[in-house]
Amino acid sequence: MEAYAITNISGIGKKRAELLKKAGIETLNDLLDYFPRNYLDLSNPVKIKELNDGDSVFVSAVVCSAVIEKRIKNLVIYKFDVSDINCEDNFGSISRLTIKLFNQKFLASSIKEGMLLHLIGKVNISGFKAEMTSPIIEFGKDFGFKAIYPLKNGISQTLLRNAFKTLFFGKFNPDFESDEITLPAELAEETLPQTILDKYKLCSKAEAYLKIHFPKSMEDVETAKRRLAFEELFIFQTGLLLMKKRIKTQKAPPLSKDSDMQYFYGLLPFELTFAQKRVISEALEDFKKPCPMSRIVQGDVGSGKTIVAAALFYHTKKNGFQSCLMVPTEILAIQHYNDLTPLLNNCGLRLALLTGSTTAKEKKRIKQELAAGEIDLLIGTHALIENSVEFKNLALAITDEQHRFGVRQRALLSEKGEEGLSAHVLVMSATPIPRTLALILYGDLDISVIDEMPKGRKKVSTFLLDSSYNQRMYQYIKKEAQKGFQAYVVCPLVEEGEDENLKAVTAFADEIRRKYLDGINVEFLHGKMSGKEKDKLLKAFTENKISVLVSTTVIEVGVNVPNSTIMIIQNAERFGLSQLHQLRGRVGRGSKKSYCFLISDSKNEQSIERLKAFCKTNDGFEISKKDLEIRGPGDFFGKRQHGLPEFKVADIVNDANLITYTKVEVQKLTQDPEWYKKEEYAALKSAIIHFFERNQKENISDINI
Ligand code: ADP
Ligand code: MG
Repeated sequence: MEAYAITNISGIGKKRAELLKKAGIETLNDLLDYFPRNYLDLSNPVKIKELNDGDSVFVSAVVCSAVIEKRIKNLVIYKFDVSDINCEDNFGSISRLTIKLFNQKFLASSIKEGMLLHLIGKVNISGFKAEMTSPIIEFGKDFGFKAIYPLKNGISQTLLRNAFKTLFFGKFNPDFESDEITLPAELAEETLPQTILDKYKLCSKAEAYLKIHFPKSMEDVETAKRRLAFEELFIFQTGLLLMKKRIKTQKAPPLSKDSDMQYFYGLLPFELTFAQKRVISEALEDFKKPCPMSRIVQGDVGSGKTIVAAALFYHTKKNGFQSCLMVPTEILAIQHYNDLTPLLNNCGLRLALLTGSTTAKEKKRIKQELAAGEIDLLIGTHALIENSVEFKNLALAITDEQHRFGVRQRALLSEKGEEGLSAHVLVMSATPIPRTLALILYGDLDISVIDEMPKGRKKVSTFLLDSSYNQRMYQYIKKEAQKGFQAYVVCPLVEEGEDENLKAVTAFADEIRRKYLDGINVEFLHGKMSGKEKDKLLKAFTENKISVLVSTTVIEVGVNVPNSTIMIIQNAERFGLSQLHQLRGRVGRGSKKSYCFLISDSKNEQSIERLKAFCKTNDGFEISKKDLEIRGPGDFFGKRQHGLPEFKVADIVNDANLITYTKVEVQKLTQDPEWYKKEEYAALKSAIIHFFERNQKENISDINI
């Protein structure tokens, strides 16, 4: 490590090294991996005679005076003039620019009359005098594009640029045309196999570094980025595959006995879709293997994921083992418990519900019964992964609405199996994401897709209205309620919010009751209610004793009351597209035509455009893609929850091709089980380890190779 410390660059001493360390740069490799955020086109300088006051510009000009030094106490001011190349003194326009530097003795002493300088800075003009104070100064001939680095913690462009120049060219202020690259080869060791470089026409690692830091054109930048993105994706996917392979070496409880699925299907009030049956049989195939299942089911809202889970719980029970279902909210846990109990009791399963508001006494009883094997299916929230919850013989753990749980939580669940055995894990995701992205996000899992809706579903018609329509809209809801149908009204209040927010939901519910829904049963629901209250409300709503349920977004995930046909979303502009889609998915679950009203008084054109586009489509995959583009992966998946690494160059939304290519190549590479022992992959192997170390956040499992 010492050999590659950043202080090996001449000009970087202890003090600067400290600064760089704060920005995460400790070694020469860290520096090389500190990529520009943008580039300045130096082929297009502004002429001095065209300068305007206050412009931030790039000027290429010739020094046309001596450097004058002036001392004021501790401050040394250096001043000199520059003029346009080949400039004739145009009477009446500014022809000279005065440059002022403070205390930069070394820089000032290297400036001589007649030199060509590239100056980047802000111009001040008063009268016929133009001035630029402390500009970035570059020497030498024109050279295409200049990197602009993201600046953190007091490091400057100049510090970074000079460090890069010294690292690449062995000296400060190189004259580009004669420059020899002096970047030590071991700093840019090739990680990708030559065959891959050839096949995808990728440049070498060394070339990529040169081109991303010192491009001569924007094509150079593209070439470099493509190569570096390929490498990042390649490394990440190799890591995922290794994680997946590690799971395959674990032992799982045997669930291979035939359970007579036809019998179970016969208990259902509807025929399963072809897609549902396919996903069930994919899981049953997994159960036949000695290693644990590790699978994700992707399906749009309303595609019927719950029943797929139910079928697998049934199968597990028939094999003599226990299951659990973990969900992100108490409301969803209650609802799954209420929905699944009649069906599964019918086939001999005993169910229990465990959430944060389960009483201590009840909890104790559940734990005892669980350990004694008297409970077959435990449904609950995070409370399930507490240490004290012990199963007799857990064989299947299913999590619903996966994007809210991290990889680590998944692993914890799987470890609750019997000694030496890892439970089968199935993740059900309600936010369908494009396939290429799923490869990245769930690359350690096998993927099943429910790509078909139950028969007879009608498209939910969606309308965007402003609040001036309230009167008419609620009139309509009143009529529908009188006919026996139900509606949700969602307000965008922060769940964690304090009493004030809760007051707001209550007040809002009161207001619409008073103003528009006289004689209709309107109730409100929010996350801060006790489990009992939530349970009572949900039951009442399910039994149609409540017609209009005013709620915060706690109902976003999973709530299933097929008789509700109207969804109203207040201040719709405040929600992300995927969230709107989830909310809309609460209606249109039965055979009756359903409606969704987005209410927004936003004046923001983009917001309105976004909402209008949302009204036009019901396709969850399309919506999540759009949402991802708008918000970026970090916001889309929620900070720290998604297990996504930080990609420096790869753009996981737009680099779909690269994701596909790298996936293919990673699979080819890892077909050889001993690949990582080979000398030719030594650099790749250490790059993988480095990547996963850097991203060692709580959600990324360790990989060991
Ligand atoms: P999601 O995929 O959003 O979790 P659910 O599992 O909650 O969807 O199912 C939505 C509704 O569709 C439920 O009322 C469920 O009973 C019903 N359903 C599921 N599968 C079918 C099917 N094959 N035919 C008809 N209705 C179905
Ligand atoms: Mg669901």
